[in-house]
Amino acid sequence: IIQGEKFQFQTEVSRLMNIVINSLYKTPEIFLRELISNGSDALDKIRFQSLTDSAALESNPNLNVTIAVHKDKRVITITDTGIGMTKEDLQKNLGTIAKSGTSEFLDTLSGDKADMDLIGKFGVGFYSVFLVADKVRVTSKNNNDDQYIWESTAVDDFTIAKDPAGNTLGRGTQIAIHLKEGQDQYLEDAKLQQLVQKYSEFINFPIYIRRTKTKTVEAETPKDVDTDDSEEAKVEDAKEETPAAPVTVTYQEDDLMNSNKPIWIRDPKSVSETEYQEFYSVLTREPDAKSMAYSHFKAEGDVEFKAIMYIPNKAPKDLFQRVDNAHSNVKLYVKRVFITDDSAEFLPRWLGFLKVVVDAEDAPLNVSRETVQSNKSIKAIHKHLVKKMFDLLKTLSADEEKYAGFIKEYGTSLKLGALEDKAHIKKIGRLLRYHSSNSDKYTSLESYVSRMKKGQKDIFYFTGANVDEIKQSPFVESLLARGYEVLYMDDPIDEIVLQHIGNFEGKAFQNVAKSSLKLGDEDTDAESEKALEEKFLPLLDWMHATLLNDIEKVRVSKRLTTSPAALVANDFGWTANMERLMEGQAK
Ligand code: ADP
Ligand code: MG
Repeated sequence: IIQGEKFQFQTEVSRLMNIVINSLYKTPEIFLRELISNGSDALDKIRFQSLTDSAALESNPNLNVTIAVHKDKRVITITDTGIGMTKEDLQKNLGTIAKSGTSEFLDTLSGDKADMDLIGKFGVGFYSVFLVADKVRVTSKNNNDDQYIWESTAVDDFTIAKDPAGNTLGRGTQIAIHLKEGQDQYLEDAKLQQLVQKYSEFINFPIYIRRTKTKTVEAETPKDVDTDDSEEAKVEDAKEETPAAPVTVTYQEDDLMNSNKPIWIRDPKSVSETEYQEFYSVLTREPDAKSMAYSHFKAEGDVEFKAIMYIPNKAPKDLFQRVDNAHSNVKLYVKRVFITDDSAEFLPRWLGFLKVVVDAEDAPLNVSRETVQSNKSIKAIHKHLVKKMFDLLKTLSADEEKYAGFIKEYGTSLKLGALEDKAHIKKIGRLLRYHSSNSDKYTSLESYVSRMKKGQKDIFYFTGANVDEIKQSPFVESLLARGYEVLYMDDPIDEIVLQHIGNFEGKAFQNVAKSSLKLGDEDTDAESEKALEEKFLPLLDWMHATLLNDIEKVRVSKRLTTSPAALVANDFGWTANMERLMEGQAK
């Protein structure tokens, strides 16, 4: 422990430290995220200052963060070349909480797990270092002061002293973390690398891990300056130049951890298609992954964030098997720092196929009073994302061929949306596409309606296992013969989806297999109908008697053209398709 001035932590700091330690002991790793973020903030500050004060960078022109491990001492150091802290800064910034309302905020924390989770997911700050450290030494050099050391074991007080070593840092801050018993995992390069890449992949400044490496070199004989030109000397030289045995040397090298660029912060106009696709594979961690469409946008107002939303080329195989759809669906960053990808709150379940990166300008749940209403921000982000997704699909649907590709991969997701998302059911209805008797291409409900015959009131559809089977139905055949268009519903959930949608632009959906089907163009000559029924009565009676166990009644119909008979469901019964679906569920 250094000798120096002793200071007490402000009461709020002690309370916050306790909360942080008690709530986050399961994810101590976030200390690294917090310290790198602070380094990055400090680098932002000095860069900003240098815009108006060109001398500011003279103390050290490099802007970066370097992490190094000293295994023997069980110490990690995190060094930034940012703005640094004066003695006064050290005392104030690392001993008090400047944010207004912090005390009230701390009062509102009930100690519930939910509260704690919120604190944990968003910025918790410098004090999280005590999750892994039993002693921390902060050495800092600001342009306006000498180099000072702040040191604490987190128990009540901290010490500040002028660094006896002098101004060795040039400019910036070095945090030396003496690890607690049991936290040795953070001494491993591989572990640190994994964490830096998880949380700090998109930090604007280079982050290095200093590694000790070995290499084998030819041992070099020191070349002495040859002044002796005599024959004997030359013989001596020749002897000396016989190669010595190779030797292994140890050296240190800084490996760059964050070469991926956060393209979402750029102006969309300046980002090329290739860059979007490259970033998509970075985001998904799948080198060959491609996206069929994306949207890059900025949201302002109730919550400020930038986002890129991608629709993958292919739907994941397990899309509907996932218990929790949200997993790695939306990656939330706050100012380029990764926060979480396991929140189900950002998108409805049916949009589980999207891949989204969201970067909020302000930690919506930072440790301050406003954060008590934390979920407001998440709800606002949710709303924006859904709206942008509909915009994206609207644009995509203008290109019939591309959109057919979307329907092939995600048609079922849309239908799931129709079942689960009442608020957007009208919009989803417009995005659905069906096979139809009109052409081999998909049709929207909108264009079906535009082709409806004069006097036609309903949208006609028929269900079956596949389009070929549907086409062979006598019901369909008779409608086609009369010049009606029929939608071919070959997905088992289609019928339930239609029940949810109810109607489209006031047009009801009519299954052509139902007995009550009204085409709207029948001649309603009651006389001739009666005559027909009388004429065929013996046949009807015979059929009814023969099929007694399987059918309810037999009727003369005018709906058929070439087929002699058809089996229909009554209005309250299930259609053959529904029966198939129900049987499937019962299994
Ligand atoms: P926050 O980053 O949200 O302000 P922290 O607890 O992480 O809260 O840090 C507290 C303060 O300490 C920062 O606001 C900053 O003024 C100062 N600070 C922390 N780390 C550094 C650093 N590496 N360089 C300069 N200042 C720092
Ligand atoms: Mg911070």
